[in-house]
Amino acid sequence: MSLLSVDEARLLILEKLKPLEAETLPLEKSAHRVLATAITANHDLPAFDNSSMDGFAVIADDLSGATPSTPRTLSVIADIPAGIQPTITIRAGQSARIMTGAALPPGADAVIPVEETDFKNRDLGANAPDSVTVMQSVKPGDSVRKRGMDARKGQIVLPAGHGLRAQDLGLLAMLGVSRLKVYRQARIALLSSGDELIPIESPLQPGKVRDANTYTLSALLEDAGADVIRLGIAADRRDSVMELLDTACENSADLILSSAGVSVGAFDFIKSVLEEQGILEFWRVNMRPGKPLTFGNYKGIPFIGLPGNPVSAFVGFEVFVRPAIERLNGMPYRARLRVRVRLSEQIESDGRESYLRAEVQEHDGVLSARLAGHQGSGNLLSIVQGNALLIIPAGVKSLAAGKETDAWLL
Ligand code: AMP
Ligand code: MG
Repeated sequence: MSLLSVDEARLLILEKLKPLEAETLPLEKSAHRVLATAITANHDLPAFDNSSMDGFAVIADDLSGATPSTPRTLSVIADIPAGIQPTITIRAGQSARIMTGAALPPGADAVIPVEETDFKNRDLGANAPDSVTVMQSVKPGDSVRKRGMDARKGQIVLPAGHGLRAQDLGLLAMLGVSRLKVYRQARIALLSSGDELIPIESPLQPGKVRDANTYTLSALLEDAGADVIRLGIAADRRDSVMELLDTACENSADLILSSAGVSVGAFDFIKSVLEEQGILEFWRVNMRPGKPLTFGNYKGIPFIGLPGNPVSAFVGFEVFVRPAIERLNGMPYRARLRVRVRLSEQIESDGRESYLRAEVQEHDGVLSARLAGHQGSGNLLSIVQGNALLIIPAGVKSLAAGKETDAWLL
């Protein structure tokens, strides 16, 4: 089997995964879910012309030429708080006191902020004056939020495949969308493997390490919008690996994610179990860290096997597993946003597409990066101390200080 590029491997994974079925949820349960249908505004937003300031609703023409030395005085015929529909009409020489968010009365075409008038009484409960003197002209539309300026009735405000964020829920609430169709959240069965692994509660024993990957990966999975089924630790034995994989099947996992046991060691059973019980699509990718990345299926359930080294597992997650979960959850694939950073030290690579742990800082608008900690794939502290992954393209072996490269901010 030839060595796949990172892009080829990701494409192969995404091609094998389909969005899960849709379900209907109340708005308050929909954060981080992905829309299964586009949302169309069923009315204009805002739904009526309203004031963006506390002030006076006026006819702009009435204030033409107003200055501090040539002020204009208007009669105040009404007081319009937020939440009511005004019944009066503003005619030449008239105005109405108006609050932020209150409906603009018919006839008025602008609002003059209270600060630009001689009306200085801002006390709570102060009555509107009988007249107001204005020292400034306004243009029609000033301090008015026009009906439909945010969104028009019939306009698509959110496309299908959109991951719902806090601000999206606010917009849907404004539009009165209380229930919506979203994709089901992917159920991911997670296991670690290796005879050296012990649960984190255990005291250290000679030759053993605590199972870190379960914790890193389940936090990443939840962050990516997945439901995690924790299977625990498989021993380096075929029957133990199969027992946990069968538990994943019994729990109707949409995808199985494992770490370790996919190198070429004598006890790395995962690849052979896939070959016997499913499909081994590929098991090596031209990247660093994380070359022994395994993909296939176990008894028909898609399977991604990350390398065991904690840094490799983390990087492999960001490069392959996050997009895979987004696909299952209903999102179309979009390359993750990159930023350009300037290297503050020389960087060596080995020609594979490399993801180096770095600390990115901003000085005067320039992002500069230096490597964080020891870059060995077992050194988790490098990601703990870093805040970014530098992406060194395949084929590049050295980059001098001062050169630029792409980075993912973490
Ligand atoms: P392997 O892929 O099985 O060859 O493991 C590679 C390295 O990763 C070994 O040093 C393992 O001890 C380590 N490793 C594997 N799984 C974990 C885990 N869950 N937590 C911490 N280290 C691990
Ligand atoms: Mg192992």
